[in-house]
Amino acid sequence: MSKDCLLLNGNGKPVSYFPLSTIDWKTAVKLVYTRNVIIIKNHEDWSVRSPSVTLEVPSIIMLRRFHKFQNYVKFSRSNVYLRDMYRCQYCADVFDTNQLTLDHVLPRSKGGDTSWENIVTCCKSCNTLKGSKPIDPIKKPVKPSFAHLLNGHKLNPNDFADKEWVKYIF
Ligand SMILES: [Zn+2]
Repeated sequence: MSKDCLLLNGNGKPVSYFPLSTIDWKTAVKLVYTRNVIIIKNHEDWSVRSPSVTLEVPSIIMLRRFHKFQNYVKFSRSNVYLRDMYRCQYCADVFDTNQLTLDHVLPRSKGGDTSWENIVTCCKSCNTLKGSKPIDPIKKPVKPSFAHLLNGHKLNPNDFADKEWVKYIF
């Protein structure tokens, strides 16, 4: 799903941070029609046409009411990348997500589990070189705090469809 529009909760903060609550433009337009959301900002120079109407595509929308969502730091691939700030934990280079993979520090074959404490971001070439040898990553992996993960978002604002999003996220 493309990340065209930032969805804010009724308090003006993202509904979810990790992953960031973004929706594609079609869903955003539908939500606007249900009148459950307020448009905070439209994209500049982006409108869509149907035979009868031209619509501005929203870039930031906010729910009319505050909804309570669980916003804890869930263990997931994208959150591990955020924790490690897209840096391979073996060669220390920064990569795009399509060049990254997850690595078990203590290999599964030796009893290593899939957890914050045993999984690190690893580039594809290091992953191949490493094989199943246990090597120490540059930083011992731990469960990240909310604030720590937020720093990962700061690193990648290029992923944001609209530069204005940063004002609502941080
Ligand atoms: Zn690497």
